[in-house]
Amino acid sequence: MGNTFCFNFDYTKNSVKDALHMSNSGTSVFINVLCLSGGRLAETESQKRFMVFLAEKNQNVCGIGTVGFDIVDMPWDKDSFDEDKVFILKVIEGAKQKLGWETLDYRPNEEIVFDCLDTFRKLIEPMTSDDIIDASLTEWLEEADENDPVRCGFPKCMIHDTYVSIHGCQVCTD
Ligand SMILES: [Zn+2]
Repeated sequence: MGNTFCFNFDYTKNSVKDALHMSNSGTSVFINVLCLSGGRLAETESQKRFMVFLAEKNQNVCGIGTVGFDIVDMPWDKDSFDEDKVFILKVIEGAKQKLGWETLDYRPNEEIVFDCLDTFRKLIEPMTSDDIIDASLTEWLEEADENDPVRCGFPKCMIHDTYVSIHGCQVCTD
């Protein structure tokens, strides 16, 4: 059980070289702190899209143990890849600086979550624009109906200052 995050999963070999495995509760905390950090750092539309993508990774809605993803399945945009990659690395760093943690009603286990953030950073670092799968962005946008936050101005949670997904605030609900 738990969730697995990886980079460029090789379906032909059915294996991953490096992966981040997390318990279900650890995953909720991990996504919580990324949402809190990115809610304070995102400026551009593509950056806000990443935060909505992460907010969708809500185990209360999607199911326990079903929210892991491959880095290449994130909504990367070829036109802004370099700055978006820098942004994601800043979001990870911001989470380690505990951005927004004062809004949490619990205290994350720093040792565990920092370790996961470091591993996540190592999954993001090798990503290049050549790895982008165009469908990751286009299909994800196509799935968003008119009420989806990506189509109605990227609303935020008043309590956590996080970008919400169609499921609401990930920090409030997972
Ligand atoms: Zn919230």
